[in-house]
Amino acid sequence: MSNIRPQGELFLQGLDRLGRWIADYLDHSERYPVLARVRPGEIREKLPPSPPEDPEPFERIFTDFQEILLPGITHWNHPGFFAYFAITGSAPGVLGEVLCAALNVNGMLWRTCPAATELEEVTLDWLRQLLGLPPRFGILMDTASVASLCAMAAARESLGLGIREQGMAGRPDLPRLRIYTSEHAHSSIEKGALVLGFGQEGVRKIPVDREFRMRSEALAEAIEEDLRAGWRPVGVVATVGTTSTTSVDPVPEIAEICERHGIWLHVDAAYAGVAAILPEKRHVLAGCERADSLVVNPHKWLTVPIDCSAFYTRRPEILRRAFSLVPEYLRTPEEDVVNLMDYGIQLGRRFRALKLWMVLRMFGASGLREMVRRHIALAQEFAGWVDEDPDFERMAPVPFSTVCFRARPRGVPEEALDALNEQLLEAVNRTGEAYLSHTRLDGRLVLRLAIGHLRTEHRHVRRCWELLRERLADLLRGTGPKR
Ligand code: PLP
Repeated sequence: MSNIRPQGELFLQGLDRLGRWIADYLDHSERYPVLARVRPGEIREKLPPSPPEDPEPFERIFTDFQEILLPGITHWNHPGFFAYFAITGSAPGVLGEVLCAALNVNGMLWRTCPAATELEEVTLDWLRQLLGLPPRFGILMDTASVASLCAMAAARESLGLGIREQGMAGRPDLPRLRIYTSEHAHSSIEKGALVLGFGQEGVRKIPVDREFRMRSEALAEAIEEDLRAGWRPVGVVATVGTTSTTSVDPVPEIAEICERHGIWLHVDAAYAGVAAILPEKRHVLAGCERADSLVVNPHKWLTVPIDCSAFYTRRPEILRRAFSLVPEYLRTPEEDVVNLMDYGIQLGRRFRALKLWMVLRMFGASGLREMVRRHIALAQEFAGWVDEDPDFERMAPVPFSTVCFRARPRGVPEEALDALNEQLLEAVNRTGEAYLSHTRLDGRLVLRLAIGHLRTEHRHVRRCWELLRERLADLLRGTGPKR
């Protein structure tokens, strides 16, 4: 007798159990500590070292999930998750993922799943409209890191240096190539430049102003200086919502400079671009209509489960020139269709648009606006508490839902503040009620509270503030943090 059972029957049994668990989890994830409390290797030790020979029932696997894996989950889906950029896996998003996995199509070509290609075109256009951007070619990529890499590849292709054909190595005719971005740009920009062979020296980091925005006059000077020294500028990556402080680079001025030099402008709006769905925040994307490409992440602030990055370009033909490579076995007779494999690195593509479609429809623009607006208001309120407390100090403006701050109690010398804040961070994170992360600004260790979970309410933010104050008091009394 075969060991392989009918899949529909298996699925129904599993889904019933899983569905009830997920429903409960989505509404009550607070019952778990937000930051996993396991030591390195602990999960691995509890798992069998080799795979089972015979089929196992779902129930047993699910028990192991609950007993072995759950303790090792850091709950990004916890309303007290305030680290990095907080995200949410929402009900519509999970439903979209389930359908995507069930269909298991590969949308590499229009023909291999017309609905995947066309739904992607439509949902991306919906999102574009919500963001107030002009018509653009859109494509879904897995992450913003990959989207920015593709943008830089397109920027390089636009120079017409024959790199696609001849590569870069051993070519005396090729000038040294440079990408410009702010010193606060996400590390993925430098990593993308490494992959593309620009090298770390091929990324020139432009200094920022007091509010951590790229200084456009410094950018203009850097490009002029490099041109005199024989570098070939490839493009500029501006950021709308930098990772540390969520500062917004002056995109209109940067666009002006790029246009003057005829170089590509890519905007990394992975986190904050989404805020433009609010009429009162639309201005954050000012100038982006002039960008050659832009990325926003519905998987950051729009409740779409990771991964889902929306990449837009007004020069799709260049992206295609950089990436299209069609072997005979992928040639199809259709004309006038978009084959998404032509516009990026990956060939196989899952039906990512489903989850974005579900989210856009089941929340509606009004639901998403309500959430983003609430997160921004909560962050402003938290910033107000920091400002009013003499033992704390705010370290950056708060244009969105992320607050940079640190403890700075009277009588503690500057040189002791980094260690104190590090201890405070660990003490709060150990409580299991909140999880914050940190960054460094002007050489100082700074705590970051980023609000982005659908279910984060006033009480969660207030509790986090109480924990910060209580744990600081413990540290100052020398009693050590309570668990
Ligand atoms: N760009 C910015 C500004 C980010 O803050 C991040 C991640 O936080 C990224 C890019 C990378 O995003 P992804 O994880 O989608 O690659």
